[in-house]
Amino acid sequence: MNKVTIKACPLCGGTQLEHTLTCVDHYASGEAFHLCRCSACGFLFTQDFPAEAEIGRYYETPDYISHSDTRKGLVNTLYHWVRTVMLGRKARLVMNEAHRRRGRLLDIGTGTGYFAHAMDERGWRVDAIEKNAQARAFAKEHFGLEVLPDDAWASLQEGAYDVITLWHVMEHLEHLNDTWERLYRLLSPKGVLIVAVPNCSSFDAHKYGGQWAAYDVPRHLWHFTPGTMQQFGAKHGFILAERHPMPFDAFYVSMLTEKYMHHNLPFVRGLLTGTLAWFSALVRKDRSSSLIYVFRKKQSR
Ligand SMILES: [Zn+2]
Repeated sequence: MNKVTIKACPLCGGTQLEHTLTCVDHYASGEAFHLCRCSACGFLFTQDFPAEAEIGRYYETPDYISHSDTRKGLVNTLYHWVRTVMLGRKARLVMNEAHRRRGRLLDIGTGTGYFAHAMDERGWRVDAIEKNAQARAFAKEHFGLEVLPDDAWASLQEGAYDVITLWHVMEHLEHLNDTWERLYRLLSPKGVLIVAVPNCSSFDAHKYGGQWAAYDVPRHLWHFTPGTMQQFGAKHGFILAERHPMPFDAFYVSMLTEKYMHHNLPFVRGLLTGTLAWFSALVRKDRSSSLIYVFRKKQSR
């Protein structure tokens, strides 16, 4: 297999990289992957992950939920209910942060297109990109959305977007620094960049260690904290303006973790950890299972 070995930290360029955790891919392959941390800046990432051309098979099981839209099982049912609630919240958050009711939005890694559709319905002019052909077909069939394939990046108009969103997408993208640069170029001068990613310094991440389901190796390449997200933004000309906790994610991630650990009553145990995590995030928002980061462009780079 063609693997990508990180020799220098993608965030600071440091070369002292320490092996910190071993995680198992419970979702698709059963293979183990190592996580490394940069000694200089603390950035955590998956080491020796499959190259872009080969990682596709690690997404291929019948129910990768963000793509296939299956409704089987309690965890998936819950996921779909939460998604409906979250769609409304996301739309409100976008409009509040952008200080506008309408505008031009680019959604990257749009999946089956639920969020893009929600914004389209609210009168936004939406462009959406998705790598997975099946997911694009779903968006077309269910919402009439013309979702662009991955190679359409270059055809997008620079400086045109009032809002760019990446909902749980950035942790999947191999070319991380290139992505940040592209985002900077595509965003309008007063635009907002909204990025949601799991938080590996969250309450639930600490509780479960290497078993934490949101490490999701090898699909998740990068494991961000509030600190490393702010540093990535600063490196590429952005100021971190706001952070919003995603309190529901702790429930979903905890239930999934309990299921992967083959514990009895994963739903009940997950609910309990999710509740504790939720209270923890009330006191300290940087302990939230996932966070939504709102970036604006610096006035001068
Ligand atoms: Zn580093």
